[in-house]
Amino acid sequence: MKVKIVSQIAQIKPSAALAFNEKVQTLVFSGKKIYHFGFGESRFPVQKDIKKAFIKAADKISYEPVGGIPVLREQIALYWNKKFGTKFTAENVLIGAGSKILLHDCLRVIEGDLILPVPTWVAYAPQAKMLGKKVIYVNSDASNLEQKVKEARKNGLKPKILLLTSPGNPTGVELSNSQIIQITKICRKLNLIVISDEIYAQINHGIISHTCFAKYYSEGTIVTSGLSKAFSLGGWRLGFALLPNNELGKTIGKYLKIVAGNSWSMASAPVQYAAVEAFSLKKDVEKYVANCAKKHALRTQKVYQELKKIGLEAPQPHGGFYVYISFDKFAKKLLKLRIRNSVDLSNYLLEKYQIAALPGVEFCEPPQRLTLRLSTSYLSDLDLSKSLSYFRDFLEVLRK
Ligand code: PLP
Repeated sequence: MKVKIVSQIAQIKPSAALAFNEKVQTLVFSGKKIYHFGFGESRFPVQKDIKKAFIKAADKISYEPVGGIPVLREQIALYWNKKFGTKFTAENVLIGAGSKILLHDCLRVIEGDLILPVPTWVAYAPQAKMLGKKVIYVNSDASNLEQKVKEARKNGLKPKILLLTSPGNPTGVELSNSQIIQITKICRKLNLIVISDEIYAQINHGIISHTCFAKYYSEGTIVTSGLSKAFSLGGWRLGFALLPNNELGKTIGKYLKIVAGNSWSMASAPVQYAAVEAFSLKKDVEKYVANCAKKHALRTQKVYQELKKIGLEAPQPHGGFYVYISFDKFAKKLLKLRIRNSVDLSNYLLEKYQIAALPGVEFCEPPQRLTLRLSTSYLSDLDLSKSLSYFRDFLEVLRK
């Protein structure tokens, strides 16, 4: 039997990240030592009280309300308000099976095209395209947002949703308060809805503190976050969306629940009950999150500083666990090694230097840019240090 794939889905290419990971796995299975900077997964052991709560919740076998159990919604509102000075209530909180599905569903229910500052996380553009939306790319700090939106409108597009990630993936950069104020002004003027992906908010490196976008643009911002990064619980699949406390938020919430109720129903019940402990603000859990964040900060800043010392350029990360390095200034030298773009660069480093890092093109950068994202969360401290000597060796070759 022949099958015809829906055209919006058929146009999406399989992620190069997956193909790349398969290649890494093949090399690992063949016995080769690989320094894996490719995976954006936080890997600390589960905090003991959260684990206990999860075990205790194993008997929670019933379907729970679409949108999440009330006690968790209440706790998340308290948690976020205490941490970031916002004013959410339980009614503004929706729980989902990971923030990724909530991001997808927000794009699904809100009409209009998507605006993405570049570089940007790998999943947003494919999600938008699968839903038949166009994507408008702007500068990483959104400095050309107004001009790009006006141009797009002139060309018949309908830019409506600005998706911000702070701290960013792949850069780890936090938007500063002045940038947020500037962006907010333009969003008000152009009537844009902001989805602010703050999944790395608690992994702060102490350079710029995290500001929740909703503090400045409460009337038009949906904040998303979850358990995956700060609590190292990516596989538990629990995320949340914080909706504006107004008619806009109510309307979006209503349709998000309709979509969820007719597709994925709810986040797993035991995970929701365990998450109440995660967001409880209790001393031991808070200490755990702070220690994990500190460790991510130390490792990430070390990689950033060491690579900067040997001459590579990167924006300084303020949060999360990524360093986004550029080899652009070595373009001529790289060309002699037949490295023309970020994919060539990533393949070359994997084959010759045992370093696995995702190419910039995955983050919607122009292919000719020679950038790579290094995730510092996957390697042991020892391997992290060792891997830096491979970068040094490569840089020596480029300098000759
Ligand atoms: N947003 C960003 C920027 C991410 O890096 C990730 C995971 O890598 C997600 C969202 C997905 O998070 P979740 O596990 O809550 O679906």
